[in-house]
Amino acid sequence: MTGITIREKTQEQVNEAVKLQRNYFASGKTRPLEARKASLNKLADVLRKNESKILKALHDDLNKSEREAYTTEIGILLEEISFTLKNLDSWAKPKKVKTAVTHIGSKGYRIPEPYGVSLIIAPWNYPIQLAISPLIGAFAAGNTAIVKPSELTPHTSRMLSEMFEGSFDSGLVYVMEGGIETNQHLLDQELDYIFFTGSVPVGKIVMEAASKRLIPVTLELGGKSPCIVHEDADMALAAKRIAFGKLANAGQTCIAPDYLFVHRSAEEKFIEEFKKAVHEFYGEEPLKSDQFGKIVNERHYNRLKSYLSDGEVIFGGGFDDQSLQIQPALLRPESMGVPVMTEEIFGPIFPVLTYDRLDEVKSFVASRPKPLALYLFTADREVEKDITENLSYGGGCINDTLMHIATPHLPFGGVGESGIGSYHGESSFSTFSHYKSVLKQTNLFDFSFKYPNSKNGLKILRRLLK
Ligand code: NAD
Repeated sequence: MTGITIREKTQEQVNEAVKLQRNYFASGKTRPLEARKASLNKLADVLRKNESKILKALHDDLNKSEREAYTTEIGILLEEISFTLKNLDSWAKPKKVKTAVTHIGSKGYRIPEPYGVSLIIAPWNYPIQLAISPLIGAFAAGNTAIVKPSELTPHTSRMLSEMFEGSFDSGLVYVMEGGIETNQHLLDQELDYIFFTGSVPVGKIVMEAASKRLIPVTLELGGKSPCIVHEDADMALAAKRIAFGKLANAGQTCIAPDYLFVHRSAEEKFIEEFKKAVHEFYGEEPLKSDQFGKIVNERHYNRLKSYLSDGEVIFGGGFDDQSLQIQPALLRPESMGVPVMTEEIFGPIFPVLTYDRLDEVKSFVASRPKPLALYLFTADREVEKDITENLSYGGGCINDTLMHIATPHLPFGGVGESGIGSYHGESSFSTFSHYKSVLKQTNLFDFSFKYPNSKNGLKILRRLLK
């Protein structure tokens, strides 16, 4: 029992919240750069001041260790805010573009403007980071935002709502607790932008709802992210970095390596090194480690447990029905058609597949929906080139896992079934901005060839437009 009940919002409550934000946006208060910076600075202050409450909520909901919670939920946001504050002036400036020969005398500009009222729908696995990281973009670009956190992490949801209520005008930002019904009311509104992070099936629902009013969307979705370990990789380092990425938040990470393809000649060594890494990180009994997370709820816990019978467990795989924890596990899947190989795992179970030729891996990955992330471990530049140039995926790392998400210099997002659009750093700003194209014409002269009564007009146009 969580002790916290997240109540659904009524249609009227949702209407009221959106109306409040529409009025706030219409007042123009979000537009000045100084106001945007003030909101960002306040956001950083609020995060700092509430650090202990945030850590407690994340521990209650997901058993997140302080180290993991600080790094992936607070530190990453503070870093993103300071990067945004440093660069906002330059991102927000109208940018002059070149003048085409046909347009001599005029000047062209691209002027970023806020969309207006945005909706941010967040999932439960990084419930602070994934609610607030898009909000940084929304603020920077001058929007208001309704943030709908997940009902599956109720402590964090409640804490977020209280934290914002006491600190911000709800016309500017409102954390709306609620579940699916609340989301349905929200998706029924005249919004200006929807930023959704969550699963592929719900992503489709969001896009369908948005299409009715042609509301632009960003969809940050999930899927099965492959991890490839080539024969020439540094096995000890690869195993350590993969165990880190696979087991952070007990595997409940959208960009966690989902399954492994290891070269047949390296399989034994990799497995040995992976076990070593797990023991180094979490001791001989990971379920007793205060560094190892729990599964979010019983439904997901039972789903994960059922994967353990999809093949031969070759390492770990113990579980605890009380704490909803599953030991890190390596598993040889029975076939490619079992659920652990067709569904997104989102837990500490790691299917191990072997290959002889890289082409086998390439055709397998290419036959599945485009993944959110892909990780390749190799020292061979040709192999690196082959994979990065020939497979389509949202993003990833060579010789590491997860780290591409943590730099503001790399846009983060999926492709195909793993998502639409991207954010982080300048991409967050551009995601929440419409770039208005404006041409300013000179009055000093006027080319007559464009007019219908021009004698040689067509001749000149033919020369210019070819
Ligand atoms: P989810 O899609 O079930 O829920 C996300 C949000 O949608 C929640 O706020 C929830 O209240 C709402 N929702 C759920 N069902 C709905 C419905 N029928 N109609 C309207 N709204 C609904 O996702 P989740 O279980 O919270 O998160 C896990 C998924 O999110 C995984 O697939 C994971 O890969 C993905 N994810 C992606 C990223 C990314 O950055 N790409 C990050 C984290 C998680």
